[in-house]
Amino acid sequence: MADQDHRSLSFWHDTLPDPIEYREPLASDGQVDVAIVGAGYTGLWTAYYLKTLQPDLRIALLESEFAGFGASGRNGGWCLGFTAGIDGLLEDSAIRPRALAFQRSMFETVDEVGSVATAEGIDCHYKKGGFVNVATTGPQASALKKGLAFYRELGLGDDVHRWLEPEEALRRANVPSCRGAIYSPHCAAIHPARLARGLADCVEQKGVALYERSPVTSIEPRRVSTNHAALRADVVVRATEGYTPRIPGYGRALIPLHSMMIATEPLPEEMWKEIGLRERETFADGRRSVTYGQRTIDGRIAFGARGRYYFGSGIRDRFSPNDELFDFVHRALLSLLPMLRDVRITHRWGGALAVPRDWLPRVSFDRSSGLAFAGGYTGEGVAATNLAGRTLADLILSRDTELVRHPWVGGLSPKWEPEPLRWLGVSGVRELGNSADRFEFRSDRRPRLRGAVFDFFVRK
Ligand SMILES: Cc1cc2nc3c(=O)[nH]c(=O)nc-3n(C[C@H](O)[C@H](O)[C@H](O)COP(=O)(O)OP(=O)(O)OC[C@H]3O[C@@H](n4cnc5c(N)ncnc54)[C@H](O)[C@@H]3O)c2cc1C
Repeated sequence: MADQDHRSLSFWHDTLPDPIEYREPLASDGQVDVAIVGAGYTGLWTAYYLKTLQPDLRIALLESEFAGFGASGRNGGWCLGFTAGIDGLLEDSAIRPRALAFQRSMFETVDEVGSVATAEGIDCHYKKGGFVNVATTGPQASALKKGLAFYRELGLGDDVHRWLEPEEALRRANVPSCRGAIYSPHCAAIHPARLARGLADCVEQKGVALYERSPVTSIEPRRVSTNHAALRADVVVRATEGYTPRIPGYGRALIPLHSMMIATEPLPEEMWKEIGLRERETFADGRRSVTYGQRTIDGRIAFGARGRYYFGSGIRDRFSPNDELFDFVHRALLSLLPMLRDVRITHRWGGALAVPRDWLPRVSFDRSSGLAFAGGYTGEGVAATNLAGRTLADLILSRDTELVRHPWVGGLSPKWEPEPLRWLGVSGVRELGNSADRFEFRSDRRPRLRGAVFDFFVRK
């Protein structure tokens, strides 16, 4: 694949400062202490913290394409201090203190990502401007306020998030249909591919052997194999997120959902004066199809929404620019910022994220088999992968830290159903969410049954 083709993967790949050149593949058998499969943020952060804590560790990182090829190179760049599944943990009074400690670690993680980027000279356009989640219908406003009340009951106050009345919300993000918004400082905007590529260079400089174009065909206790060679390792870390179902034995561990993004041309300064987002706050609205946007450093808007599941856990890395989902994303953006109606869309892309059956990401290490993994971030992995990487490093090095006691450590999500049940269920719930959103936008009322069924399945 020529560099030009890599660049067409996403706006972020297209705007990397250096060419994307493949590193050498794994060519011969060998032995290491830790073999990590997948060079996205999970694999890279795990390698980074292992090598930082124990520099003499022999680590190999095996990547089927190139570092940052997957979700880590193409996401919305929300480095977010919350993670999927955490509300369910906080609701459970038996583990609430541990869930709150986990939540605090997630907040700190947003700063940790920025600190490491600065310390290692990774220019990933990090800006901690917080996020604004705008309510554009009455039911969205009620749902956001309910979430806020839940956090208040747990003792989390204005420093975590606070309600903005429309006037104040509009000053931050000029969404004309705004009925109020939640603002939280716990989010930074980043250029995701710069972070992934910068981390890859950084771990390599620290002595990690990074093999690209090396798809792993099997993961077994203390052994990983490609079509050409195999590595023996005391520990094998699976960090393959949306691609996991392709690995033999893991077909139903996680499902790949695709999220779709567009980027505008750079907007003139006059338009930015009208839109706001002066602190590069990331922004979203409260619809069920999950929107997310950021103001890029070169003055564009990169904006996305949750897309499709393909039968049999199929994975797509490239999409036709005519795919109707891009129209859906564009319409969603215009519904928030109608002043963009004449602005050109220059980039359209998508990628696979991973959803576990119980919507709770996991970090796990079984010392007896030497098998470790982290993943299932459900589209909220930019910061969570850093905490997962630190946690895996502590688990592997037997460090008794607070991180290894967080409630996402250990255990397995239940397996997803076999097909065609999986496709029917996932597509059905997605359609239910879209239809509930349409009803709400039309009537400004919450569709009781559809809303309740959707919330039950996605654990909102
Ligand atoms: C379009 C989109 C937008 C998103 N927006 C956000 C956001 O704004 N904020 C947020 O928090 N999260 C977001 N996410 C989710 C976030 O990007 C992911 O949770 C995170 O990047 C996961 O990192 P990872 O390293 O676990 O997985 P990935 O980055 O997917 O890395 C997995 C790597 O493993 C490699 N691999 C797979 N199989 C093999 C194999 N057999 N052998 C060798 N290598 C293999 C892949 O090529 C890939 O490079 C988004 C995701 C997408 C797709």
